[in-house]
Amino acid sequence: MKKIVIVGGGIAGLTAGIYARLSGYEAEIYEKNPIAGGQCMGWNRKGHHIDNCIHWLTGTKENSSLRKLWETIGALAPSTEFVQHDKFYTSYIGNESITLWKDLERTKNELLQLSPEDESEINKFMEHVKYATCCQMPVDKPMDMMNLVDYIKLGKSMAGMQKVTKEYGAIDIGDLAAGFKHPLLKALFTDYMFKEYIASSYLVSYATIASGNGEIPVGGSLAMTNRIIAKFESLGGKLYCNRPVKKVMISGTIANGIELLNGHIISADYVICATDAMEMFHKLLGRTFMDKKWEACFNDEERYPLASGLQVAFSIDKSKFELTDTVFLDCEPFEVNGKEISRISFRTYEYEKDFAPEGKTVLQSNIAQFDDDYRYWKALNKDDYKRKKQEFSEIIKERIEKKFPQLVNHIDLLDCWTPVTYERYCNSYHGAYMSFITRKNVKSFHVKGTVKGLSNVFVASQWIMAPGGLPVATAAGKFAVQRILKKEKRDYMF
Ligand SMILES: Cc1cc2nc3c(=O)[nH]c(=O)nc-3n(C[C@H](O)[C@H](O)[C@H](O)COP(=O)(O)OP(=O)(O)OC[C@H]3O[C@@H](n4cnc5c(N)ncnc54)[C@H](O)[C@@H]3O)c2cc1C
Repeated sequence: MKKIVIVGGGIAGLTAGIYARLSGYEAEIYEKNPIAGGQCMGWNRKGHHIDNCIHWLTGTKENSSLRKLWETIGALAPSTEFVQHDKFYTSYIGNESITLWKDLERTKNELLQLSPEDESEINKFMEHVKYATCCQMPVDKPMDMMNLVDYIKLGKSMAGMQKVTKEYGAIDIGDLAAGFKHPLLKALFTDYMFKEYIASSYLVSYATIASGNGEIPVGGSLAMTNRIIAKFESLGGKLYCNRPVKKVMISGTIANGIELLNGHIISADYVICATDAMEMFHKLLGRTFMDKKWEACFNDEERYPLASGLQVAFSIDKSKFELTDTVFLDCEPFEVNGKEISRISFRTYEYEKDFAPEGKTVLQSNIAQFDDDYRYWKALNKDDYKRKKQEFSEIIKERIEKKFPQLVNHIDLLDCWTPVTYERYCNSYHGAYMSFITRKNVKSFHVKGTVKGLSNVFVASQWIMAPGGLPVATAAGKFAVQRILKKEKRDYMF
């Protein structure tokens, strides 16, 4: 039996491992951390659970190709329960609020009630969110392996997206917000996603939630990761944790295997790299193998920015806090890396009974960070880094207490983490937790996942396609194995 060795046990690597086993290959995953899952992770602090990842999982709608993929890898089962949410999020200015409900008619009515003078923009926006509900990520096979019939089928199923792209494909979220007159609507549209993102991606995100295709599985990120690991191991796959990989062993155009940091050599017929792209090309393979497209994007932070987060988690008394889900609020301005911040977000996890002791709930806040912010955190020495995190945590706590005085003495810090945390934990370049942000007037990033000059090395990672995220990661894992099957002239349809 031929052996596929996979470097990295995130969602992409685990998916590749499962499809490798389903295709009859030996599959071994080598993961640097004590547990697999990469960024789809959660951790415990002071008897509470902090969920790192799933804000929404695209592909939860029954009978979609992506749902089938999630079920194949064990992430979801027909019996999986989802969190009962009725909204995407709520934005506040002072005491005035507006919500993007899953119910699109309700949202439209409330937006119109709030700002009748924005009627035409509201109607246009809501109409196009409805069109965007048809958006499905093609995951049956890689685009370059699709035939004419596949393309026609895809084009037909995504007809509504042409209208969305025409109206919202050449502007960014900042432009979208600027088209509204009411200050709360301007805030609403720029609160959730980076304003640099192309506006169509925002409509697709809201449409995903509204159409029930972006639910949160109960138990969150770690529980889902554990189900995928269990599936891989039940198929006979071997997962080796605490095994950082030093390099892929290359001889001419062939990889013979990998070398672990502890010096052990693992032989392989195929190597799948399922790590961050820079880790892959700077350390594991060597920069000469990096695709020119990748190189160009990494060298152009202005047009291809990367985003991460500065985050803090608190334990709060459930009885003292009535807001649920995700909310955005204005606050007294403060600075991080010299940038003024006047709005903060919280997400509460009151719906997860096991995430906190009785009577408590976890509240998390996330401030967007970009390449220069990563450099700011990275440049701090150990003491200053710790001090700045403490300062930031205190600032957020104060802002929360000011807004919700009933929380004074009922809010405790659990943890604070930065882009550098993601770099340390996952070897993520600049702490990025998605791939490149697609900006207006910039070509969206997409590579095949093959490595020029190496015939038996493939890439499975969210980095193969903007904007990354869990759906891209899992599809990339499946695609890498499909490419191996095609190379071996075997049937690659799952
Ligand atoms: C705060 C946050 C919120 C998010 N929210 C969402 C969301 O709501 N929906 C969504 O779809 N996505 C979300 N994401 C993104 C999602 O988590 C990622 O897209 C996805 O997990 C990436 O999977 P991956 O396998 O490509 O990469 P990773 O998860 O980065 O996995 C790479 C793995 O390789 C390992 N590794 C690296 N170098 C080596 C080495 N040398 N040797 C061995 N192992 C190595 C790492 O430890 C890691 O386990 C979020 C991410 C974060 C951080």
